Amino acid sequence: MIAYNLENILKELPSGVKLVAVSKFHPMEAILEAYQEGQRAFGENRPQEFAAKAVQLPPDIEWHFLGHLQTNKLKLVLPYASLVESIDTVHLLEAVNSWGEKNGKVIQVLIEVHIGAEETKQGFTPAEVKELLSHASDYGSVEFRGLMGMASHTDDEAAVRADFAIIKALFDECRALYPGLASFDQLSIGMSGDWRLALDYGCTEVRIGTAIFGSRQY
Ligand SMILES: *Cc1c(COP(=O)(O)O)cnc(C)c1O
Repeated sequence: MIAYNLENILKELPSGVKLVAVSKFHPMEAILEAYQEGQRAFGENRPQEFAAKAVQLPPDIEWHFLGHLQTNKLKLVLPYASLVESIDTVHLLEAVNSWGEKNGKVIQVLIEVHIGAEETKQGFTPAEVKELLSHASDYGSVEFRGLMGMASHTDDEAAVRADFAIIKALFDECRALYPGLASFDQLSIGMSGDWRLALDYGCTEVRIGTAIFGSRQY
């Protein structure tokens, strides 16, 4: 089923859009099944699980971290992550930068944008994103690669499109405002329920879990 799901998604996904297979809560065998189909980018959202999988699974897997990250968990994530997609506070950004400095590493990050309607959602407002990026040079051990966002969790297509339009406009505005951020080129939007819509808003990456691996057992 995993192979079948993957193949169908990849058939529809434009070649310039990266598929991150979100494997959280799924066993390593499921990841290996996707790996055998050629999938290399995987996403996880819990530090402990992320680290355990990263050390045990093939070294050429590209690991994306996309969950809430507490600063006391950095050592579980930063040694293995090729992209941290969920920078959601200045405090976290500062801690990631310090870790990078100490470990001689430049950490690739996306800034998480709060776009959906739900109150609980993490992330910066569009105004906060612009303010933060105006100080990008303060973070010498971080490379700002772009934005990540989640649309409102709803069947209302117009509402989802409105969320994607906001983050796409912000992405374009940031690139125009801060041309010095030469590698700020990634827009990570679109999940199992809405990735086809995200394609209309210039996403460069989609993060798909359920539609590949099936539903999660929490
Ligand atoms: C779980 C998760 C996904 C994947 O969600 P699905 O609906 O299962 O595709 C994508 N992005 C983030 C940040 C997630 O936490």
